[in-house]
Amino acid sequence: MNFDELGLAEPLLRAVHEYGYTTPTPIQLQAIPVVLQGGDLLAGAQTGTGKTAGFVLPMLHRLLASGPKKDSRGKTPVRALILTPTRELAAQVEESVRTYGKHVPLTSMVIFGGVGMQPQINRLHKGVDILVATPGRLLDLHQQRAVDLSHVEIFVLDEADRMLDMGFIHDIKKVLAVLPAKKQSLLFSATFSDEIKALADRLLNKPGLIEV
Ligand code: AMP
Repeated sequence: MNFDELGLAEPLLRAVHEYGYTTPTPIQLQAIPVVLQGGDLLAGAQTGTGKTAGFVLPMLHRLLASGPKKDSRGKTPVRALILTPTRELAAQVEESVRTYGKHVPLTSMVIFGGVGMQPQINRLHKGVDILVATPGRLLDLHQQRAVDLSHVEIFVLDEADRMLDMGFIHDIKKVLAVLPAKKQSLLFSATFSDEIKALADRLLNKPGLIEV
């Protein structure tokens, strides 16, 4: 099976080909159809398996298919939110969003702590489709009303086990509380503790299950 048979939009396939990928990895083969159909997903996958493209490509496809969107003020609302445990991972994931999304008219930005907040506030003010964030800074910005998460259509929790190991469970719950009830949610984790299973039960609705 190659990328062309997965049903992804042409601009996404073009980006994938330009990047030099020929064959989808096992996780991409399994995750992409589930996400394209709008289903929730619980995926067991380590880094290095190609999991990022496994959620970014179908996410971009769905945003393209249902958009563009504007909020009541004529601004592009955050339509997809990807939470990651570390700023390095957040930056890498956002880079992937840019790479795979280079031919589509969707914008993205990354936010994490440890750097000035004002440039992030300024950028958010202009409107952005896809936000990649670490939980703490996202909540700070939300408390300051610099970011509106009420239009999120797709929510991704990446490396959920590391997030819990790092003590982010309360932050994650706070984020979940401000997201719309109706959304597509994807949870990626390398391991499955009882805590992850409880989080998955709370977040996901009849998820497709994949493990690689
Ligand atoms: P990830 O597991 O998402 O961190 O991806 C691991 C690495 O695999 C990254 O360097 C990707 O650029 C690369 N990669 C992802 N999907 C493919 C693919 N289908 N073919 C070749 N390389 C890929």
